[in-house]
Amino acid sequence: MKDNTKLIHGYPVFDETTGASSIPLYQCSTFSQASIKDSQPYTYSRFGNPTRHALEAGIAAIEGGQFATAFASGMSAISAVLLSFSQGDHLVLCKSIYGGTFQLVNEVLNRFGIEVTFVDETDLAAWEEAIQPNTKALYLETPSNPLLQVTDINDVVAIARRHDLLTIIDNTFMTPQFQKPLELGVDLVIHSATKFINGHSDVVAGLVITNDEVLAQQVALQQKVLGGILGVEDCWLIMRGMKTLGLRMEQSAKSAQQISELLAAHPAVKTVHYPGLKSHPGYQIQQRQATSGGAVLSFELADQAAVFTFAEALKIPIAAVSLGGVESILSYPVTMSHACVPKAEREKQGVTEGLLRLSVGIEDTEDLIADLKQALAKVSVKQTVH
Ligand SMILES: *Cc1c(COP(=O)(O)O)cnc(C)c1O
Repeated sequence: MKDNTKLIHGYPVFDETTGASSIPLYQCSTFSQASIKDSQPYTYSRFGNPTRHALEAGIAAIEGGQFATAFASGMSAISAVLLSFSQGDHLVLCKSIYGGTFQLVNEVLNRFGIEVTFVDETDLAAWEEAIQPNTKALYLETPSNPLLQVTDINDVVAIARRHDLLTIIDNTFMTPQFQKPLELGVDLVIHSATKFINGHSDVVAGLVITNDEVLAQQVALQQKVLGGILGVEDCWLIMRGMKTLGLRMEQSAKSAQQISELLAAHPAVKTVHYPGLKSHPGYQIQQRQATSGGAVLSFELADQAAVFTFAEALKIPIAAVSLGGVESILSYPVTMSHACVPKAEREKQGVTEGLLRLSVGIEDTEDLIADLKQALAKVSVKQTVH
């Protein structure tokens, strides 16, 4: 079965007892037990709920994994995985990591004696050099945020295997539609389902998928005892959103490719970061490990004044934090995701005052292109006036 068919038929999308065309909302905290002498599959919703299990089976099916767990947010999923490590353990993480994950390791894990080293994700030697005798896992995000740098998953997995370490990936930007890390040997895949998987900017959720039964049990235990389960209504909404993941990703990525090409050729744009562009340094790796450049890109204008002119002139994308919705979303890292990073550090990471990130939605490509063109024209005019 291929992916778009799997999204409709590859898991319990239909209710087995009634034939209902969508999994019902089992809106209950507890389950009446047939007998107090015996156990039964469902007893209490934090331990397990049929609506949540349907979602978990669904994401497992499309990610190519056997086990999945659903959490109240992407950060809850990441916390559950990273809090499986113990005092004295060491982790190696890519330096361009999601801001919440950065805070989690620096402000929470550190207090529990879990050490971390950050490495330049594109430098394979750096990954290997950072490994210590107490290292337990390598953690990556590819493409990275907001500069869309690409890390070779196969190479990082090979390093991990040589040193008997786990690999963990945050696959939020690509989704299983475009990148299946489990097939490349990664042990644990994490998603902020808030983004493309749900796709409608109306739910906050997280998912973890694995093929390893022992790891799955550990994550399930964390889900149960840390308690960050996803509510049934949100599970239902994600299953509804997920059915169109393939169609949405296809349309968004097609537009992202064309928009990147337009931006790359435009005189008002200094640089474009999109792994679907042949000029992108990670293009070849992206071609090998993913089936698309994805639906997120970033680009740099001359300066902050240009950014403000452009953003004010743009009509279709909403200006917001987040990504992966049906609507295009324009983010300004300097005042949004990287607002708390000191300017010098921010600039060192390449997050300049001219940088904007665009998550491309499913609007008609022609309309997005026309809108971007008219907003860029205003930037150019203003610059010639100066
Ligand atoms: C949004 C995001 C997260 C955090 O997810 P929440 O659902 O907001 O908790 C983690 N990783 C990446 C790459 C993200 O984009």
